[in-house]
Order: sequence, then structure tokens, then C-alpha cells
Amino acid sequence: MELDREFPFELFVCRWLERNWPLAGVLEDDQTVLVGRQLGTQHRRWDTAVVVATRTALRQRARFGPDTLDADLLRVLQNAPAAFEWYRDVIPTPEFPWRYVREAVRRASERDLIETRHRSGRLEYRRRWTFPDWPDRIVVFENKPDLDASAADDLAGQLRHDVALGLADETWVCTRRTGDAVEPIVLESIPVEAGILTVDPAQAMGTVEWYPRQLEVLAPGQQIDHRSETTGGTVSAEQKRTTRLVLAERVYGRGWRSYIESMRPDCRHFTLREHATGYIPWCEAKGRCQTQRECAGSCAQFEPEPPQARMNEWPIDGGPGSWFSEVLKRRRRRRRPEK
Ligand code: SF4
Repeated sequence: MELDREFPFELFVCRWLERNWPLAGVLEDDQTVLVGRQLGTQHRRWDTAVVVATRTALRQRARFGPDTLDADLLRVLQNAPAAFEWYRDVIPTPEFPWRYVREAVRRASERDLIETRHRSGRLEYRRRWTFPDWPDRIVVFENKPDLDASAADDLAGQLRHDVALGLADETWVCTRRTGDAVEPIVLESIPVEAGILTVDPAQAMGTVEWYPRQLEVLAPGQQIDHRSETTGGTVSAEQKRTTRLVLAERVYGRGWRSYIESMRPDCRHFTLREHATGYIPWCEAKGRCQTQRECAGSCAQFEPEPPQARMNEWPIDGGPGSWFSEVLKRRRRRRRPEK
């Protein structure tokens, strides 16, 4: 079945979580969720992430525009003073040359995130708004449509890394429901702190097989190399807080529907098909959901949209390809309250 393949399975999981989070209890008043996919740090990449935040915090965040704010911009915004000050007086001394910080101050100014001026040859800045510490919770998922004993073994090291570091509040494995109980050998390989979710794309259903433990996000964490399982350095609580915000920002800016930006919706064979709980990309030439990697300009079957598709008949300029992109963008925006 189509949704058993990794890419469409992952899109299904993102959509299902967007509709069904939390998996236990209820969200607090005013809270909502944003879902992202394929994001991570230098040491670890996750298939899916759920970020919980209040609508109030998201409206404050929305003042800073719809795009992701990277770590350099966040440093500038989080230390922005109320009155004009030299940037070196307010931003903690970085572990790299100051010129990179200066460059980030300029970028922030170009995006109208702060106000700047020059006094006595010094670049000064002040905030326009206080930057909110907007994410309440971050939950990460590994998606494995076929979770057999060997796949569980491969995942175990990565999950142990998540547990030791405690960057996310919860770590989960999500797999396809087969109708059989999850094999005991699979359960044995996966750390008890990780949750296990089984989903049935055909029925648009999900079942929690094992609830995760809440991880220590406010305490220092331990880096573990998930391949060699050797212990790396300690990560301070402050570093974790910054990394959590960087991750949440990627979810905020990209969501999970941005896959279309790295595909070729301008190909005449590209379409979106409604499946289970949402759309998945579909290639009419291949007769299946194509992967992001194969749906590129290098694809041997790529054919540009006919010129007449780009004129008049479509609700926005640019033909069906642009229309697909616009539909997904609109859905992404709908999840983020406006300022
Ligand atoms: S033919 Fe190739 S480029 Fe066109 S939609 Fe299919 S995979 Fe994408």
C-alpha cells in the first residue's frame, strides 16, 4: 500500500499528529501544536517533531515574520535592549569572532526585527518587541513503517542519545499497525523511556502501545554518539534551551508541508492526491508517490507544464504547480496565529 513507503508514511504521521496531539490528556487552554519534519542538530536528525505553544506566544512570535530565525538572529533578539546600546555591550562574548555577530545585527535590521543606528563609529541597536520564549514542549518521533527487530536495534542507539541528552520533552517511535502485537523483542530493544505509537494509515487511526517518560529538559544533558555509543561532552541546560528554540524555529518556519519546495510541482506529471487524512504528492508518470530525491530537475521523466496551463484559467498565476504550492503554504499558515 502506498502509505507504507517511508516518505508518504511520514507525511501521514505528520498530518495525523497535527490532528490528534496530545496522545494523552488535553492541551491547556490557548495551546496549539505545530508539526515539522526532517529536522535536527549537528548530531541527530528526527523524522517528525511536534511543538506545543500557546496562541498568545505564537502571536508574539508572529511579529518577527513567518520565516525561521536562525541561532545568530536569535542571539541578537534575545539580548536586544530596550534603549540603544552598542551590540558588544549587550550580547555575551561569543566563541567566534565578533564580526559574525555584527553581521547578524545587520541581518536582523534588514528584516526590520530591530532598530539600529551608528554612534561614534559604533553599531547600536534596540528591540522593537521582546522576543518570546514561545515553545512550551517539543516532542520528537522516529518513523519506521516496518519496525522489525533489526530496525528496532538500529533505532535503539539514537533513542538512548535522546534520553541521555533530554533535549526534547518526549521521544517516540512510530510504526505501522499490523494487527499483531508489537513483538517482545522489539519492545526489549527500545529504551523504556521512549514511547511507541502504532498507526493505521488506511483507517487514519493511531494507538499508543507504550507511553514515554518525560525527559529532563531543564537539566544538563549528555551527548552520546549513537553509532559508537561512546559518551561525549555534557550539554548545559542553557545550551539545550537555545537548541530547543532553534529547533522550534525550524518547525515554525517550515512546518511539514514545505517538502513541495524541494520537489518539481512545475512538472506536468506532478499532482497532489488526497489520501487518508490529507494530500500526498503523486507522480502520474511513475504511478505512485515519488520521493523528494527523485522529483528533481534531473528526473528523466520531468516535463515542464504546458505554457497554456500558466495562463488565465488558474486561481493564481503560474498553473497547477504553483497552485499546489499555494494550497500547502496556506495550510501551513493556518496553523500559525497571526500577530
Ligand atoms: S516525472 Fe519526475 S519530476 Fe515529474 S513529477 Fe514525476 S518524479 Fe517529479
